[in-house]
Parts: sequence; C-alpha cells; structure tokens
Amino acid sequence: MNSDLSIDRPREACGIVGVFGIPGASALIYSGLFSLQHRGQEGAGIVVSDGTQVRSTKGLGLVSDVFDPNTLVDLSGHLGIGHVRYSTTGAPRVQNVQPLVVECSDGIWAIAHNGNLVNARALRLMYQESGAIFQTSTDSEVLVHLLSDPMFRSRPRRVARALAELKGAFSFLLMTKDCVMAARDPLGFKPLSIGRLGGGYVVASETCALVQVGADYLRDVEPGELVIIDSTGMHSSRFAEDERSCSQAHCVFEHVYFARPDSQVFGHNVHTVRVKLGRRLAREQPAEADVVIAVPDSGSSAALGFALESGIPLDFGFMRNHYVGRTFIMPEADQRARSVDMKLAVVADVVRGKRVVVVDDSIIRGTTARRRVSALRDAGASEIHLRISCPPTMHPCFFGIDFATREELIAAGKSVAEVCEYVGADTLGYMSIEGLLSPFGEESRDYCTACFSGRYPLDVSRMTGKDAMEPMLLNLEPKPHH
Ligand code: SF4
Repeated sequence: MNSDLSIDRPREACGIVGVFGIPGASALIYSGLFSLQHRGQEGAGIVVSDGTQVRSTKGLGLVSDVFDPNTLVDLSGHLGIGHVRYSTTGAPRVQNVQPLVVECSDGIWAIAHNGNLVNARALRLMYQESGAIFQTSTDSEVLVHLLSDPMFRSRPRRVARALAELKGAFSFLLMTKDCVMAARDPLGFKPLSIGRLGGGYVVASETCALVQVGADYLRDVEPGELVIIDSTGMHSSRFAEDERSCSQAHCVFEHVYFARPDSQVFGHNVHTVRVKLGRRLAREQPAEADVVIAVPDSGSSAALGFALESGIPLDFGFMRNHYVGRTFIMPEADQRARSVDMKLAVVADVVRGKRVVVVDDSIIRGTTARRRVSALRDAGASEIHLRISCPPTMHPCFFGIDFATREELIAAGKSVAEVCEYVGADTLGYMSIEGLLSPFGEESRDYCTACFSGRYPLDVSRMTGKDAMEPMLLNLEPKPHH
C-alpha cells in the first residue's frame, strides 16, 4: 500500500480561467486562479495575448509561488487563459504544467484542460506511429495534434472536428492570438461557466472565480458546445449532438467534495446541496449523540445539515491550520503523517466526555479517518459516530479524479462493519446512492456515480484491459510514490 497519507483524499485534476476583451487580462486570470486553487496545487500557468504577441509564464507550486503580481504587468494583453493543475496523467514536472503553448501552421495555440481523456493513449500511439513528437506526458496534448490536422482549413470546423474525436471528460479553454474558445464534453462531466465583465467575458471552472474577478454569471458552456469569443462577440456551435438528445454525466463528486461551497455547479449551489445531503444523511443514518462536528472544510456544510435535521447541536470539534504546506513534498512517511495531523487539531473541550457525530465527505483509503478518530479518542470523546455524505467509494474514476487504486480503496475490499473497525469508530454510516442524488430531483439521471455504483457512463473497458477495475492505465508515466 502506498504510504503517502496526503493522497487519502480524492484529488481534482484542474481549474481553468479564460478572459477576453479586458485590458490587464493576466491580473484577472491570476485572481481567478487563486479562487480555483482548491482544484489543483501542483502547478499553474498563464498565457495572454495583446492581439499580436503571445506571452506566457508557468511553474510548479501554488499560484502564490508561481506568479509575482508585480511582474504580471509584463504579461500585457486583453485576452488569455490560465490553469491550476493537479496531475492525474503525467508526472508533476514543469513541461506538463498548462496552458500548453504550441506553434501550428496558423500561429500559436494555447490549451488548458480540466478532465481526463479516456482515448488519449490510443490517439497518442496513433500519432506517434505516424512520426509525431509529443513534448509532454499529459493526455491533453493529443488535442494539439488533432488541431494541426490540415483537413479542415477553417478554424471553427477544425476545432469542432478535433473535439469530436475526444472521448472522456473535458472542459477545455483554447486560445489563439486573437480569440478564446471554451468547450465541454458531450456528457458534461466537468463544470465550465461564462461571465460578463464590462465589455468582455470571463470563463471559469467554477462561478467562485467569476465572483472573485467581479464578473456577472451569464450561463454555463453546454455539454457538447463550442463557444468562440473574439472581437465580433460570442459565437456558439455544437461539435456533438444536441445536448437534449444525449444523456449527461455530471460528476457528482463536484458537489460532494471538490467545488467550493460558494460556487454554482451544474445549476445548483454547492453549499445548499451539501446541507441537503447532511439532512438526508441524518435521516438515513441517525445517531444518538451530544454534538455534531465536521471534518473541515468540505464536511462543514453537510455537518450543518445533519445538525439541523437531527436537532443535535453543531460545534467546532476540529480546527484547520491553513498554513501547513503540501504534505507530498515531505520526504519521510512519518513527517507526512505529522503534517496531516498538523492540518486538523481537535478542540478537546468540545468533544471531551461527549458522544460525537463526525461528518465527513468521503473515506478513500481510511488512513486519515483512522487518525482523526484516534485523535478524538485521545481528546476524550466517549463515543464516535462517523457519518459520510456519500456512498462507499468502491471503483476508480477514469474521468479526472485521482482516487487511490482499487486495491487502496478501503470500501472495495471491506464491508462497512470492517471499515468501521479499521477506522476505530463506534458506528459508521454512509449515504445511499439515492440519497446522494436526492438534491437534484429529476436531474439526478444526469449525474455520474460510477465510483460508487461501478456503472460507467462511457465504455472504459478498452483502457482497462482484462480487469475492468484496474485503475489509472491512462497514466503515461508511473506516479512517484513517496
Ligand atoms: S467516477 Fe465518481 S469522481 Fe469520477 S466523474 Fe464519476 S462521479 Fe465523478
């Protein structure tokens, strides 16, 4: 088993921001990326254009590490795109940090991608066999090769045709020296929203980034839609069938864990959804207890819902230290473990001698939950009832979320009682799949739940070989195991 405790959480692939028609675009993109930092912490990049010249900067680390706000003025331009990355494909090295910037026959293109392409490996092999050279190990680079296909001369048709070749999850931002394009895969796995700011446009993975830069939400990019924004305005076309005729597969984990509570995702406020999930969890998995506490931050809204529904008072049992660095860079396993402990401290007075309900959003490998339960016991909690606002995570995700391997997913190999025993809680209760989808009403059929149900919205058997559950074959390089 991998000993890196820092990956005992699902990790999002990326966040993207695009700006068109606003002077000083780089400063807006920088602010937007700050709001999307929770979606990726390994690297960040910004590419801008003034209509003539394209300039870019990128590096490994957090947005605050990579960019110096004082030098962003050197990145002058009125259009641009930016990216924060966590690597689900490709190693964490600077060449893989996006936006990717390439020179094609018709000029420079920049690409920023959120999601995972399930046919990237096959496309890459096809191009490599015909002599193409790849500069990165990311799945996103196959789009570069599709875009440089000379079959279609006109730009919109070429982009639409390239997008139509891709399978999997993608929200893309593309940029040339004079336009920004936004596209979402036909199943709409990942969010992508458009806002209006002055005479220009802002596009972002989450609406929290639109709010951050002062843009007014306009609408989402529709699944299967290509939006082109240039000096003549915003133009929409489809590269896939009309979205009303296809089923969709929004990632429900965006609501459970990834997205910020202040964002509107797939038409629903994330905080409101999580409060409803907490209420439902209290009905499905009630507990006799004195206090409800959250594992912050993503468990906070669901804990509030649990407390409201159950009538058990909510209190702050864990305090998050926001200044602990990223744990994966710590060389020794025990250092990483200590660092995980430093991130959350127990408020002993809140839990001492109490029967405590602990609400969290997920259990992936169980190692972190076990440490949390142990810390609560050490602080004197008399009973610990762990409640999880999603069902047991039993299957890998191929669409841009990096869980552990199936062998490392604790719920894949153990019963609920066995997981409860492993983490050391008195009781453990998960949400049902029906409960998870209940906040969405009739739209619930438009959500992907594959990591809980094993029912994948796309055929992933070709990428998974003989064992349909073998995870992460999309990885083109082995992931470093710390
Ligand atoms: S498998 Fe799970 S994490 Fe992946 S897209 Fe579907 S719901 Fe989201």
